[in-house]
Amino acid sequence: MTELLPNYFNGTWQTGTGAGTVLTDPVLGTELVRVDATGLDLAAGFGFARAQGGQALRALTYRQRAAMLAAAQKVLQANRDAYYDIATANSGTVKNDTDVDVDGGIFTLGTYAKMGESLGDTHFIMDGDAARLGKDPLFQSQHILSPTRGVALFINAFNFPSWGLWEKAAPALLSGVPVIVKPATATAWLTQRMVKDVVDAGIFPVGALSIVCGSSAGLMDQLQPFDVVSFTGSADTAAVIRSHPVVTQRSVRVNIEADSVNSAVLLPGEAAGTEAFDLFVKEVAREMTVKSGQKCTAIRRILVPEALYHAAAQAISARLAKTTVGNPRNEAVRMGALVSRAQLVAVREGLDYLKGQATVLHDGSTAALVDADPAVACCVGPTLLGVGNADGSDTSDRVHDTEVFGPVATLVPYRTTDNSIAHAVALVRRGQGSLVTSLYGSDPQALAWAARELADSHGRVHIISPDVAALHTGHGNVMPQSLHGGPGRAGGGEELGGLRALNFYHRRTAIQASTAVLGQL
Ligand code: NAP
Repeated sequence: MTELLPNYFNGTWQTGTGAGTVLTDPVLGTELVRVDATGLDLAAGFGFARAQGGQALRALTYRQRAAMLAAAQKVLQANRDAYYDIATANSGTVKNDTDVDVDGGIFTLGTYAKMGESLGDTHFIMDGDAARLGKDPLFQSQHILSPTRGVALFINAFNFPSWGLWEKAAPALLSGVPVIVKPATATAWLTQRMVKDVVDAGIFPVGALSIVCGSSAGLMDQLQPFDVVSFTGSADTAAVIRSHPVVTQRSVRVNIEADSVNSAVLLPGEAAGTEAFDLFVKEVAREMTVKSGQKCTAIRRILVPEALYHAAAQAISARLAKTTVGNPRNEAVRMGALVSRAQLVAVREGLDYLKGQATVLHDGSTAALVDADPAVACCVGPTLLGVGNADGSDTSDRVHDTEVFGPVATLVPYRTTDNSIAHAVALVRRGQGSLVTSLYGSDPQALAWAARELADSHGRVHIISPDVAALHTGHGNVMPQSLHGGPGRAGGGEELGGLRALNFYHRRTAIQASTAVLGQL
């Protein structure tokens, strides 16, 4: 029997009383560890986090909590090799892709440690200046932000077991709000190990950081009016969370990061072989293959001027053809596995669905696997689809509606009458709100105009022009300084964005009083 990972809950390490769910190696098919949450006293654990963890955290200042984040970052850095081993085994990712998750998470934690210092030795945050409420300046209104006196429940997706934890936990803990994380079962091991290392190091007060691995059953039922829940995952589960009675009846604050049909747009006037064209092709191919396309921010729709459809198809396909797929332990491999058999099946089904309205321009389904048995390994090569012409872009609704969570994207040509990108903008907007779009070109005015046109339907607009070729951070990389989240279909959530992330964990209050009282705040 494989090891049953303990949960850290109610201030103690405790294993579930059930048989548990087995986590497997998606390349070798071997059994790794088990997780289980059966028998946990959920009411006691949530109560403990609120009472013990919350109170102890709030007794500290922002600067003190920032120092704890920095200490946690050091602990994680020291154990980095173990995290890489777990990610290779449980997520089937190559080193570079593990880096995005493991080092991305540690970097985000460190960034909040630095930003938190600037908040100083205070217990709440002033929100703007005092405003007069009448002619006499004596009676004024001052808004303040105070940490909510509840817990933050994180329900996370399988694709970022490290980053998905720390990008949420850093702002929550800095705010003074205790965290209970429930990682996605398929890849819970890495999250569990990181939490274990940080808890064992005794950095945060007991109850500040808890983890429940296994079933989510009953977790949402524990939430009370001052708690918050931050969910990352599929649109279907997001709908369950959003309509849960604690959200509708107790006004529990909820943040949703769901799926997203992101896009990349090559602006008109950039012929094949120009620098902007080449940057576009490189970024698209990279985004399709990083983490085997299992990134919420990955490019799913590739928009090009209609006249460049074939040139773009050729150039992107040529890059994809160089992607070696298979066992991440083999150094020749550039792209590892999907996370599970279920995901492999879902990707194949999604591809078949898209193929109903698109043709295959580069077929990854026949790619030979390196060092991996195709009957066992959850590996698949990258596939580029295309809708043929601009009319196809209008009529192929599946391309705009469907997120295939794997190395799959579709080339979508647009009309460029009078060098306009109006058609491209209309097509991008058919994604119904996305996390990110990226724009490629060399005309600053045209790029800025396109960014303004697309801003309201995106959380982030990433612009790649030749002058930032070596500087830009990448379409899919989520930087802690910038907002992550998107409107509409992407869930309507907001995360990160520097200290803006703290808003979710604070309550805003208007204090109306005399200037003498406000001065004492
Ligand atoms: P998922 O199946 O929706 O699961 C997400 C989480 O919800 C898991 O922890 C899951 O637990 C839990 N869960 C399932 N049913 C639940 C219920 N009834 N009540 C409460 N929790 C429940 O999503 P996934 O397959 O892990 O992740 C892939 C999706 O996430 C993709 O669509 C991707 O686009 C999206 N994603 C979005 C972002 C973003 O920031 N916008 C980031 C990453 C991923 P179990 O694992 O135990 O079932």
